[in-house]
Amino acid sequence: MLLRKVTQSPAICSSVLRLQPAFTGVQRQTGALVAAQNSRLYSSQAAEAVLDKNVAGRDAATTAEKVEKTALNVESKSFAVNMFKGQISTSQVFPFPSVLNEEQAQFLNELVGPCSKFFEEVNDPMKNDALEMVEERTMEGLKEMGAFGLQVPADLGGVGLTNTQYARLVEIVGMHDLGVGITLGAHQSIGFKGILLFGNPQQKEKYLPKLATGENIAAFCLTEPASGSDAASIKTTAVRSPCGQYYDLSGSKIWISNGGIAEIFTVFAKTPVKDEKTGEMKDKITAFIVERSFGGVTHGPPEKKMGIKASNTAEVYFENVRVPADCVLGEVGGGFKVAMNILNNGRFGMAAALSGTMKGVIRKAVDHAANRTQFGNKIHNYGAIQEKMARMAMLHYVTESMAYMVSGNMDSGATEFQIEAAISKIFASEAAWMVTDECIQIMGGMGFMKDAGVERVMRDLRIFRIFEGTNDILRLFIALNGFQNAGNQLKSLQKALKNPFGNAGMLAGEITKRAKRKAGMGTGLTLQGMVHPELNHCGELTVKAIEQFGAVIEELLLKHGKRIIDEQFVLKRVADCAIDLYAMVVVLSRASRSLGQGHPSAQHEKMLCETWCTEAHERVVQDIKFLRSGTSKQTFKNLRAISAAVVENGGVVSPHPLGF
Ligand SMILES: Cc1cc2nc3c(=O)[nH]c(=O)nc-3n(C[C@H](O)[C@H](O)[C@H](O)COP(=O)(O)OP(=O)(O)OC[C@H]3O[C@@H](n4cnc5c(N)ncnc54)[C@H](O)[C@@H]3O)c2cc1C
Repeated sequence: MLLRKVTQSPAICSSVLRLQPAFTGVQRQTGALVAAQNSRLYSSQAAEAVLDKNVAGRDAATTAEKVEKTALNVESKSFAVNMFKGQISTSQVFPFPSVLNEEQAQFLNELVGPCSKFFEEVNDPMKNDALEMVEERTMEGLKEMGAFGLQVPADLGGVGLTNTQYARLVEIVGMHDLGVGITLGAHQSIGFKGILLFGNPQQKEKYLPKLATGENIAAFCLTEPASGSDAASIKTTAVRSPCGQYYDLSGSKIWISNGGIAEIFTVFAKTPVKDEKTGEMKDKITAFIVERSFGGVTHGPPEKKMGIKASNTAEVYFENVRVPADCVLGEVGGGFKVAMNILNNGRFGMAAALSGTMKGVIRKAVDHAANRTQFGNKIHNYGAIQEKMARMAMLHYVTESMAYMVSGNMDSGATEFQIEAAISKIFASEAAWMVTDECIQIMGGMGFMKDAGVERVMRDLRIFRIFEGTNDILRLFIALNGFQNAGNQLKSLQKALKNPFGNAGMLAGEITKRAKRKAGMGTGLTLQGMVHPELNHCGELTVKAIEQFGAVIEELLLKHGKRIIDEQFVLKRVADCAIDLYAMVVVLSRASRSLGQGHPSAQHEKMLCETWCTEAHERVVQDIKFLRSGTSKQTFKNLRAISAAVVENGGVVSPHPLGF
């Protein structure tokens, strides 16, 4: 009960891949659970949001009133939402969140030491990897520490941590053993998170205590053989019994983390639900809490995997499971929302864990570079190695900053952090991959050896770009979500134009903004007073990039209209810009805080921030230029045609240069 012993008062309780020189040649990454469905969902919403043409006949005065009201009502505090409109909302990003009060900070501080010690002295990642399971003593030790119930309220037997406190501890896990990390994460970050977020008091009281101690392990069951990214296409069914007291649930789920060891499952199934408007019966997704003890639940053998071998991954079969009606999680037919919320809520944890992974890997690279002599010099003295090390440090700085920015926003009660959370997941998983790859490069042949312990990390990391929303689908999610918000703004503007007199002030401001943007002039946006004076230049670069980004979003909306949904070549680049922009502002905020507080590492952070912002700005400018150019149209046409030919040919098209 190490972690639970110390109690907290209840009151408390491509961008990355678009890096320059050292990383050129690394392929830019271009949908998981949220995936296609999210893209589909957000696609249609975004499309509908674009230029509503049906307002002409309405009373102009009412329209004007509505416009102003809507504009007020839809004002979002999310930095990411606003940047798509070419606006800056600073409240969630400046100052860098400091959400822990003294008691919370002290409590957390008391947990960090024992948790680190446990992973250094008890857990053996290499053995777990070789055994393809988490060693029993580690599992028992983690249970005793309370590591299975970090965010379960203390009165239900958990440690009651905030998101920020949780992030700090999973960072330690990520530094040492991602296989253990997935065992713990599949349990609490997705496995029973639905009960925490959507459970009613009875469900919480019934399930959380045993889940918090690890007596019961949880799993999240969404993916099926024919339904991965396209989560809405699941075939598992749950049919309500005529008496109404239970559901008959049948179907099979694949690749379920903890699937072979879990007792409690959050299962997503299609249930017939009456459409309120039409009276028709429609299949909608509902979330259920399913106990293995209900009967009819079986699982397959542990999957043989590339990485995170210590974590259990298995198929789970549900055969006419009688699920009591009071095990519905959230609303009947509201399961998609439950799934998306669970995933959105957990993404910061992945960023935190992977920032820990990077820290550990950077240490290994440093140790090697500082001690290895070649050509008469320690290799860290060579520019080629220095650039790698510096970029690894920058990638870590951005990831860590994003993780705590998002967790801090969540702890402050922000409700709109979905784009930011998706960005942090993409960024962290790609940054950790690159950092680890470069660590191996710095270590040379030694890095390739099992004993060095980095090849395991590399294998473990690969899945992070695939599960909980593939990075490709999350990029679509980010871009389309952003387009949707920008489209709403444009729609309001269009409505305002119907009554120019009633909206004169608003229109004058918007027209001036666009004219200035077109002329390459500043639109009056500024981060001055927010960023530390020593970073004003970076602040200006960020503002300029946001202004240009907002302008190109509007151009793309006007050009493609609803068809923007199908423009994935464009959407990917838009998402890359969004990732870079958010990364810029996050590091600006953190480095500004360090400079303001006179932190010993402030000048170092300033360099990280300056270098990041300068290069990120350049990438955004290049992307925007490319999107506006005729070259992009031809390039996308070529890419489409090359892909189609390769697919048609069943492989590469060009003959071997030797002719055979
Ligand atoms: C080790 C491991 C553990 C897992 N744990 C769990 C778990 O605990 N619970 C659970 O429910 N699931 C789990 N999963 C499943 C995981 O979430 C899925 O693999 C993921 O959702 C992707 O689905 P898929 O593999 O079927 O790929 P697909 O959806 O078939 O996608 C294949 C490729 O096509 C791309 N793509 C798909 N649709 C589009 C589109 N519309 N536009 C552009 N590109 C597209 C994807 O980005 C991807 O690159 C796990 C998987 C693994 C490997």
